[in-house]
Amino acid sequence: MWIKIKNLILDIFFPKFCFNCEKEGNYLCQDCQELLEISGFHRNYSTQNLDDLYFAVDYKNPLIKKLIQRFKYEPFVKKLAKSLSYLIITHFQLMDNKPNFLPQPEPQRRVEKNEHVLREALDPRTSNGADFILIPVPLDKKRLRWRGFNQAEELSKELAKFLKIPSIPNSLTKIKETFPQIKLSDKERKENVRGVFLIKDRELIKNKNILLVDDVYTTGATMEECAIVLKKAGAKDIIGVVVARG
Ligand SMILES: [Zn+2]
Repeated sequence: MWIKIKNLILDIFFPKFCFNCEKEGNYLCQDCQELLEISGFHRNYSTQNLDDLYFAVDYKNPLIKKLIQRFKYEPFVKKLAKSLSYLIITHFQLMDNKPNFLPQPEPQRRVEKNEHVLREALDPRTSNGADFILIPVPLDKKRLRWRGFNQAEELSKELAKFLKIPSIPNSLTKIKETFPQIKLSDKERKENVRGVFLIKDRELIKNKNILLVDDVYTTGATMEECAIVLKKAGAKDIIGVVVARG
């Protein structure tokens, strides 16, 4: 099920010029927002070490490509983190079966029939959150210096506010520089990232469910390598969370 969004993401985009049609008002005008077909559907996706993957938009959508490129390449628009993470949040909100790491709703108080007491009725689907942490896919030092920020970390920070789950950016680090994955074949991508990630503090990871955050998921080589390292450190489930899937 693909749902076109009207108005829903309007407020989150700051008054500026539309990236797509250059109309004044928002980073993305209302007409162009409709072109971003945010998914309201989730099908479990797993690999050897990744237990699931959530993505808001198909990366084939030319507009999402444009937005993510403005976020990641010069001249960088760091503020787009808010808008892009909001696409993920909208995706969660559109789903009929909400993931169990979404914030718990306020307990609903209602009077049961034949019972003169108030009972708390909790939605059984939503209970967790407490065992979860958000971890952004890290950048190496050189890349971080060039961009001035880690785009995955910015997304993770925004998601943390909404999900009420802590974002722990420095627990997983990238210790080696790699070639840009985009120029490599599937096999080369795996080799390119092998052994480049390191856990700094195992205690933070142990027995946690990890929401592993990145901007785009393509072949999954980077996330897979992160997941291997996190699982070795004692993490439970590793769930990928990205803006777009290629
Ligand atoms: Zn527009």
